[in-house]
Amino acid sequence: MKVFNTMTRQKEEFVPLEEGKVSMYVCGPTVYNLIHIGNARPMIVFDTFRRYLEYKGYDVNYVSNFTDVDDKIIKKAIEEGVDASVISERYIAECKKDMAAMNVKPATTHPLATQEIQGMIDMISTLIEKGYAYAAADGTVYYRTRKFAEYGKLSHKNLDDLQAGHRDIKVTGELKEDALDFVLWKPKKEGEPYWESPWCEGRPGWHIECSVMSKKYLGEEIDIHAGGEDLIFPHHENEIAQSEAANDVPFAKYWMHNGFLNINNQKMSKSLGNFFTVRDIAEKYDLQVLRFFMLSAHYRSPLNFSADLMEAAKNGLARIVTAATTLKRQMDATTKQDMTEEEKAQFDATEDYVKKFEDAMDDDANTADAVSAVFELVKYINTNASSENSRVFLELLYARLNTLCDVLGIILEQEEELLDAEVEALIQERTDAKKAKNFARADEIREELKKRGILLEDTREGVKWKRA
Ligand code: AMP
Ligand code: ZN
Repeated sequence: MKVFNTMTRQKEEFVPLEEGKVSMYVCGPTVYNLIHIGNARPMIVFDTFRRYLEYKGYDVNYVSNFTDVDDKIIKKAIEEGVDASVISERYIAECKKDMAAMNVKPATTHPLATQEIQGMIDMISTLIEKGYAYAAADGTVYYRTRKFAEYGKLSHKNLDDLQAGHRDIKVTGELKEDALDFVLWKPKKEGEPYWESPWCEGRPGWHIECSVMSKKYLGEEIDIHAGGEDLIFPHHENEIAQSEAANDVPFAKYWMHNGFLNINNQKMSKSLGNFFTVRDIAEKYDLQVLRFFMLSAHYRSPLNFSADLMEAAKNGLARIVTAATTLKRQMDATTKQDMTEEEKAQFDATEDYVKKFEDAMDDDANTADAVSAVFELVKYINTNASSENSRVFLELLYARLNTLCDVLGIILEQEEELLDAEVEALIQERTDAKKAKNFARADEIREELKKRGILLEDTREGVKWKRA
């Protein structure tokens, strides 16, 4: 399997530090609002990558944080006149609901920055002892960027260019030694949450959180560190500087970054106001559709959100789900049990699609091509499966389709609203079953329809039905 490593700007063979195990850290959201669908992109694409690693047999330790202390959270808390923890707890709960609805698996651990302050103080102390950080007169602790010789290696930026960019910016009141230095700890302002520290009552900078949580839950050296491409600089660059200076080992072996979700070719973001929340989308679509839409593009490519593409995703998803539902119906209808030789050969032929799917995912998680392979399998199923086939054959096809969809996080067994045509078809099947004196099957269909909210009434003119 190959993954594109932002550090080397190349696709590299994926070899985890420890055989059979993968440690993965994905930077999570700052929780001061409902998440927007741009924030959902890393959640969905890296969840899919995790699922594929698990499919390949790896034991994955997946850590994704919530940043629950931050200027924006504090601002919102002041606006509402509540404690910052009220805001962060509310939006963590809402975010978890959105994740569940998008079928994003919970992480092995979802650490909270506010619960890891001591670890941050310890790492900052180590950095000061080693000469990589210093406390200014007001209690702010800064990282001494120029001291870390490899600074810029992830974002491929050169320190002197960065310095030139900073030359004209004069921030009054800052006590930095150098414009490139960044904050590790900052003094509290009136009304803000704070913690005691050797330097001042205050709170951590954003970057130190991830270095500390990654170390605590995954160790000093990890396999994969991931997030949106806007995090490459400065967030991930700073994390590397902190972690490698403190721990004296390489931080992450592979750096993976998703491209932006755009709207009108502009990055979707809270600050630009050009966003849809996941909740907005849920009013119109099942969030499986949003997930499927995200997977229709390669995770590193920009993806433009549009109503047309969402409709295309909806139709594509429906094609897959319908194939699965039809297989189930055929399974119920068939009277044959065991596979014939011909069916065995037909089933073996579907291995080609599995191979295509795996080749796509092995090539830097190319979900767009993996989805195409699923469509090919669906086409094969639609052409080759019927209620004339044996139950075992139909079950095997279903299982194969389900396994691939599960890697993509697509649920096949959702209780979708039945289309009118599907209801009519089932009613016809029930009538036929009754004629054939197969009352058990007829009752089964009535029960199934009832479960799906369809009520039947047998009248002299025939069967009438309505939605409950
Ligand atoms: P934030 O809450 O802004 O720190 O973002 C949480 C995650 O969402 C980070 O990994 C960001 O890189 C990612 N993200 C934010 N906006 C977008 C976007 N428009 N497209 C893709 N990823 C994004
Ligand atoms: Zn982070």
